[in-house]
Amino acid sequence: MNAPETLRLEDLAFDNSFAGLPEAFYTRLAPLGLPAPYLVGASAEVAELLGLDPGEIRRPEFCEIFAGNRLPPGSDVLAAVYSGHQFGVWAGQLGDGRAHLLGGLKNARGHWEIQLKGAGRTPYSRGADGRAVLRSSIREFLCSEAMAGLGIPTTRALSVVGADLPVRREAIETAAVVARVAPSFVRFGSFEHWAARGRTAELRQLADYVIATFRPECREAANPYAALLADVARRTGELMAHWMAVGFMHGVMNTDNMSILGLTLDYGPFGFMEAFDAGHICNHSDTHGRYTFRNQPHVAQWNLYRLADALLPLIGKPTAAQAAVDDHFGRAFESRFEQLMCAKLGFLAALPDDEAFIGETFGLLQQHRPDFTQFFRALSQLPAAVDREKQAKTDAPLRDQFVDRAACDAWLANWRARLAQTPWGDDARQVAMRAANPKYVLRNWLAEVAIRKAQDRDFSEVERLLACLRHPFDEQPEFADYATLPPDWASGLEVSCSS
Ligand code: AMP
Ligand code: MG
Repeated sequence: MNAPETLRLEDLAFDNSFAGLPEAFYTRLAPLGLPAPYLVGASAEVAELLGLDPGEIRRPEFCEIFAGNRLPPGSDVLAAVYSGHQFGVWAGQLGDGRAHLLGGLKNARGHWEIQLKGAGRTPYSRGADGRAVLRSSIREFLCSEAMAGLGIPTTRALSVVGADLPVRREAIETAAVVARVAPSFVRFGSFEHWAARGRTAELRQLADYVIATFRPECREAANPYAALLADVARRTGELMAHWMAVGFMHGVMNTDNMSILGLTLDYGPFGFMEAFDAGHICNHSDTHGRYTFRNQPHVAQWNLYRLADALLPLIGKPTAAQAAVDDHFGRAFESRFEQLMCAKLGFLAALPDDEAFIGETFGLLQQHRPDFTQFFRALSQLPAAVDREKQAKTDAPLRDQFVDRAACDAWLANWRARLAQTPWGDDARQVAMRAANPKYVLRNWLAEVAIRKAQDRDFSEVERLLACLRHPFDEQPEFADYATLPPDWASGLEVSCSS
């Protein structure tokens, strides 16, 4: 393999494929930038994806560029238009109200677009200020990289740059800009936008762009647009399986926040499940509980039907559009979810009764509400066989998470009986289980500690958390405190759409 490129900021070779679409798809404009920006955090891993020398992060120009104050040569800055359904209701035109696409580039690691979030107003801001606050920017930065560490498809984050510029939310906060990186930021709503206007030519241009750039194999299909929809349905199904298996809740699964590439997109009031409750609502603004943990796969499917509606003029037959979703979403979700859950439970190969056992496991979690992450991590260290006399001690890491120890024991007996059906040495199984059950997730209280310190200009905790969440499956004893339950002060933490 060739040595990785190590480019300087000035040498990023933008090709800006999205800007090759006609002007109806976006507005060209300059970002507003930030006064006296300072670097809050940066991901060397994302710099490397872009081909950048990680040393570039320390240059003052890095901060200037990713605050939106200075444009890298070859960039072609634009804000894209899209529409969408928000909380189940058609919301009409939305668009990049606070995101500026700097440009796109291709390299040996893929196709990357760089977008600044929070660098000022655009024609799609709809009266809002075009800004993002430091709090939500740190959350997006850390969670993007945490999801990547967990192996879950996601947009990435190169950096967070802050400034003392005041921004009004419920309280006065300060402004920041996140530089997001993904192959594409095209959303379901990007298609809904043209379909709602009856603009089939633009709808086709967008679909052709996505197919040509990211899904060329769809061109070979009898109906390329149905093949594209089937691909989105399959990837979205897999994404839901990943979210559910790790206890991730997105919080705002509106169609404008759904990636056409099946990536986790637009980190706002997300959360990771702590004390298990399938009905948990992580977004304080979601008063009706549309986006509870358990609803996520249903909502994803509902969103896919909206995309199917939008693509119908290209696909032609309603039955073909519906089949593209029905034949691919459910199967992808269910098979990936079962595979991920079997891995979490330490089953060497899936057996027919596993679906029922997985259901029993979620029933146990729902009734007794242990911490989702700790439950599976503790399970990963238990032996397959245990002496009756020593059982209480051996199983303590898991049993101690239950008030009702007998309920835990009964479930463990069934788990051990199931393990015995596909024998696997404890050592190998435990290694595999630890690789499927993260020790570290971005708990709200961890993000909150990093945010509070950053608000006092101490960015050390952002850096430490990033380092920890890069390897969420490793023991990392130096970060053991990050694997603990939320402290008392954090019990009242709420996250909302305010960002
Ligand atoms: P979200 O709920 O964050 O996905 O945002 C929904 C829509 O509102 C998108 O079009 C955003 O660009 C826009 N938006 C959210 N916050 C702001 C803001 N502070 N300024 C401008 N547009 C915003
Ligand atoms: Mg959004």
